[in-house]
Amino acid sequence: MFCPRCGAENKSEQKYCRQCGLSLAVTPLALTGQLDEVLGELKKGEKSIQKGATLLGVFLLVTLVTIPLSGAYSMVRLKAAKNVPSLQPNTI
Ligand SMILES: [Zn+2]
Repeated sequence: MFCPRCGAENKSEQKYCRQCGLSLAVTPLALTGQLDEVLGELKKGEKSIQKGATLLGVFLLVTLVTIPLSGAYSMVRLKAAKNVPSLQPNTI
């Protein structure tokens, strides 16, 4: 079993955690007492991960849409610049 305090792995026949010395006899009690808290933390973590994934997806979407648009925009600007002789660096 894993120690609920430090997470160290202990053999089931051990009475105390070899890492931090916590009595493993109370581990089931501690686990049931902390179960809601642990689950709450896990759900918070999942939500933040989902939020991060959503933000990443939106960012990727915006990037994928923006890059071709900005590319087309600069192409248009280049074409427009070629039509105006005064804007060409070679004529200066
Ligand atoms: Zn421990």
